Amino acid sequence: MRLILMGPPGAGKGTQAKRLEDLYGLKQLSTGDMLRAEIASKSELGQRVEGILAAGELVSDDIMIEMIANRTAKPDCEKGFILDGFPRTVAQAEALDDMLHNMKLDLDAVIEIQVDENALYDRVQKRAAEDGTRADDNVEVMKNRLEVYRKQTAPITPYYKAKGMLKTVNGMESIDDVAAKIDSILGVST
Ligand code: ADP
Repeated sequence: MRLILMGPPGAGKGTQAKRLEDLYGLKQLSTGDMLRAEIASKSELGQRVEGILAAGELVSDDIMIEMIANRTAKPDCEKGFILDGFPRTVAQAEALDDMLHNMKLDLDAVIEIQVDENALYDRVQKRAAEDGTRADDNVEVMKNRLEVYRKQTAPITPYYKAKGMLKTVNGMESIDDVAAKIDSILGVST
């Protein structure tokens, strides 16, 4: 099974992706986590992207497309994967289509988690208080991340809608209720 989870920062993509990973043996591919690992390891790429993440801007399509192409080809993705944080631009979505086509693989679903923007500020502030490791979890950068989401990432939804692939869930419900909706979209009941 191959899925895309979409939604603005703080929508709960990571939480739902981790659950799907554990339940169905899929691999969660969080581009944000991959980039933060690069930064933590002080790799050349990490040093290049650190300021971009801290400002809430997007890393270039070329870098991200290459990262996902390499990652999805690894053996742990054979049973399937959940993309969390990719694609984030229409160009990335198109490149993903080409990539999957070449690998003779299909996408099973694109699930958009819809949330009320005001709630996102509360969630991100809570995450900052609990975890505090992310340079971009603060109100100022959050404003920019939302703006970037609206301008560059939200235009992907009509792209998948036109292909008849887009499903939406209400991310304002409890974690368990969102999970149950996702399961029903995927045709599995737990
Ligand atoms: P969020 O909480 O905003 O969903 P992520 O952990 O998914 O955060 O991503 C954090 C940051 O990593 C983004 O703000 C962006 O700078 C960078 N990033 C992650 N995925 C991508 C991508 N597909 N394209 C460009 N930049 C990305």
